Amino acid sequence: MSITAVNASIITIGDELLIGQTIDTNSAFIAQELNKIGVWVKRRLAVGDVYDDIWKALDEESKQSQIIIITGGLGPTADDITKPLLCKYFGGKLVVDEKVLTHVKYLFEKIFRRPGPMLERNLKQAEVPDVCTVLHNERGTAPGMLFKKDGVVFISLPGVPHEMKGLITSKVIPYLLSAFEMPAIVHFTAFTFGQGESMLAELLQDFEASLPTHIKLAYLPNYGMVKLRLTSQGDYKEEVEKELQPYFERLQELVKDFLVTNKDVGIEVVVGQILKAKGKTMATAESCTGGYIAHLITSIAGSSAYYKGSVVSYANEVKENVLSVQHETLMTVGAVSEETVKEMVSGTIKKLNVDFALATSGIMGPDGGSDEKPVGTVWIAAGNNQKVETLKLNLRFDRQRNITITANNALNFLRKFILANS
Ligand code: ATP
Repeated sequence: MSITAVNASIITIGDELLIGQTIDTNSAFIAQELNKIGVWVKRRLAVGDVYDDIWKALDEESKQSQIIIITGGLGPTADDITKPLLCKYFGGKLVVDEKVLTHVKYLFEKIFRRPGPMLERNLKQAEVPDVCTVLHNERGTAPGMLFKKDGVVFISLPGVPHEMKGLITSKVIPYLLSAFEMPAIVHFTAFTFGQGESMLAELLQDFEASLPTHIKLAYLPNYGMVKLRLTSQGDYKEEVEKELQPYFERLQELVKDFLVTNKDVGIEVVVGQILKAKGKTMATAESCTGGYIAHLITSIAGSSAYYKGSVVSYANEVKENVLSVQHETLMTVGAVSEETVKEMVSGTIKKLNVDFALATSGIMGPDGGSDEKPVGTVWIAAGNNQKVETLKLNLRFDRQRNITITANNALNFLRKFILANS
């Protein structure tokens, strides 16, 4: 490889990040976008709203990376100290940027429709260090700022995720592509379900040992699924892809019994793609997952083409009155039972007039378990108007994890049912 790696560091600023009040989603987004264009993210760092800590982070990271991306601390409040700090760090003075001022005034008058004169602290958002290039923030008041020092590019962005994303996509990535020559980083991902990480590692032991040193295999387990990612880098994307392809094919062959797809997507996306391709519809009846499966499915744009809706039948009364689960079933074998989820599926197919239905009922904890049905007992059913199949899970996690794992397993179970029965 003749093109040398371009390293980046991401510094996120804010006390709220350190105490866990805000989850740092900005770093994840920025890292993904940088990775796509071949920038290697060397370090990610969160610092509080402390002048010396931010200063030190800039010093330290510029020893590691040619690109430093900073988010947060640009707002109108006292704890937002980034801008004066950057001004001092790069040796400039704060001046009003007329374009930013016009934009801030426009936002307050026409969009936010704030009555009365604008506050001094809001007008101050139009001040920028005179040594920076302003990155215009269409989505908010705090502009992005680009600085250069000793061959390192520093880019400061607002912390608000929606604004940061707009700037990364429209300004930062195009700039980096024009300013740096990056090697291509290629990832190929095989998405598996139904086999744990250690068993997969056993299965792939020889394959992994046979990989050239520059091709890396990563195991990414996530709530019942394991994604296997092959990564390589080189000067040209096409060349890297061509070299990686036979290894990826071999990998898929080795895990074929557990392979869901060869794309890095969620299980809900895969189910949607299958239904769309077959022109079929589905609905859900959710007890223990409380609508979480419906949420996953409807998070995908265009899901209305195949998804009709859900009955969150949490109470027995709803299972009985809306989904026609028999009173006797609930009284004899109970809500968390194979019979109940089967009847939930049949009731949903009739009530919502769909080709396929998926139902869940279980005890998610921490209370509600018994000797016969301990916490973590879950029944799942998937079916059409001819056949209903069931799956029992015995989970052992906390409530939230139990819900997520149930939803993923349910969607995978439905996926297999549709493929086998249509
Ligand atoms: P503003 O101009 O709105 O004040 P800012 O640049 O000052 O923006 P912050 O004050 O640090 O940014 O944060 C603004 C909002 O963005 C807060 O709700 C904060 O929790 C959120 N936020 C900040 N940093 C991150 C991050 N790394 N990941 C996710 N959300 C973040």
